[in-house]
Amino acid sequence: MEAVMSAESPTTNRLRREPRRLRRPRRPMLRFTPWAWAKLVFLRDLGPTEVGGFGISSADDLLLIEDIRLVRQRCTSVTVQFDDVAVADFFDEMVDRGLTPERFARVWIHTHPGDSASPSCVDEETFVRSFGRSDWVLMFILAEGGQTTARLRFHVGPGGDCELPVDVDFSCDFAAPNRADWKEEYQRSVLLPPPPSPIVDDPRPQAFSSLLADDALTLDIFEQRLRDGDYDLGLLDEEWEIDSPFAEEVVYG
Ligand SMILES: [Zn+2]
Repeated sequence: MEAVMSAESPTTNRLRREPRRLRRPRRPMLRFTPWAWAKLVFLRDLGPTEVGGFGISSADDLLLIEDIRLVRQRCTSVTVQFDDVAVADFFDEMVDRGLTPERFARVWIHTHPGDSASPSCVDEETFVRSFGRSDWVLMFILAEGGQTTARLRFHVGPGGDCELPVDVDFSCDFAAPNRADWKEEYQRSVLLPPPPSPIVDDPRPQAFSSLLADDALTLDIFEQRLRDGDYDLGLLDEEWEIDSPFAEEVVYG
């Protein structure tokens, strides 16, 4: 009997014993390179506010995020708002570098202070209004406590939403973190609110008047510079409209 079995060719043997399995399509997963993940966590933890940007996908796998790019944004404890001009500049830069929009304009990433990665209603509105025209878009939220939301929305066929698992792919080659560059990008992009004025119980009259004088001086200098044409007035005209497509408002408890 054994002799008969061993006389069969290995191929015949395998075919007989293991019927061909149909491969199930794998559930898509959002992955980050370790470098991109380290950058996102670093940016999240740099300030007290939310911070947002675009994920840059790998050319070989659009669900593998290789970088996170911040655009100029105004952040407060209750709002994050991208500057539309900065978004347009970022898109131009990416196109100039030869990237297709699928790689830089489909994955919207932002952080949440606190422990909830659930999208706010403004997140939902932004997702529809600003990202609703592409074949597919993805909203990714990383909370301070490590919670994540990755929601893929596709507009082809019947369309639909799908929550994706998230992973950091340590099989990728990655460069050493460059925290100095990341911090510089943050400082260049994220406009934080001024610190609240301290409440002084017993303000010394002299200190108070000198403060006023400083203010007046600053205003004088500002007006003089304005008259002298020292400022780029285009910058002053940039309005941070509250109904900007990237406006977001979240109230923290
Ligand atoms: Zn949010």
